[in-house]
Amino acid sequence: MTEKILVVEDELTLRETLEYNLARLGYQVFTAADGFEALALVDSQRPDLVLLDLMLPGLDGFEICRRLRREHSMPVLMLTARADEIDKVVGLEVGADDYLTKPFSMRELLARVKALLRRVQLLREELTPRADTSPTPPSSEKLLLGDLTFDTTRHEIYRGEVLLHLKPKEYELLSYLALHRGRVLTRERILEEVWGWDFSGGTRTVDVHIRWLREKIEDDPANPLRIVTVRGTGYRFEG
Ligand code: CA
Repeated sequence: MTEKILVVEDELTLRETLEYNLARLGYQVFTAADGFEALALVDSQRPDLVLLDLMLPGLDGFEICRRLRREHSMPVLMLTARADEIDKVVGLEVGADDYLTKPFSMRELLARVKALLRRVQLLREELTPRADTSPTPPSSEKLLLGDLTFDTTRHEIYRGEVLLHLKPKEYELLSYLALHRGRVLTRERILEEVWGWDFSGGTRTVDVHIRWLREKIEDDPANPLRIVTVRGTGYRFEG
């Protein structure tokens, strides 16, 4: 299946250069020059990845990313000329998955795009065949774990019959934890594998998301039995 990429960039030359280079690699490319166009294309085309310029007329990249994150989990690679904004870009507030500062090399950009798409693909593939706790029809792509049901096709998780209202990263994190059930996972590793960040400065992001998840899946979030804290190290998912 051809992966779809949405390029949001107001600068015509750069937009066309990105479109050309991504199309050459076989991606199906959509382009938008402003935020409203971008959000409309996200809804209509469901891209697998969004390349998002930070400085745009009208809605800026921050606002687009925030709005997009309310409903979508596809990776967002932010393009920014402002090095001072990087913490904000990849932090909790905005929630981009990765960033590149302008000017960047096309080779670097394409490598990042591939890495992000691969990460999503791996998560999807790893999760799908591991329906090992209970037999389910293969077409439904559901994983059952205790009272949790992971619907990997619809990107939804149910607790019992109740659909959990998860932010995209919460979904990815819980899926990742489920996949590595019973193993001690360091904050750094979680950060690297779920967020794709290889610096440890963002581990608080992991803690915050774990707290949110506990509120949704633990009977008593203050005394968690499912997502257990391993002191000084990280977390272990008990199922
Ligand atoms: Ca711009």
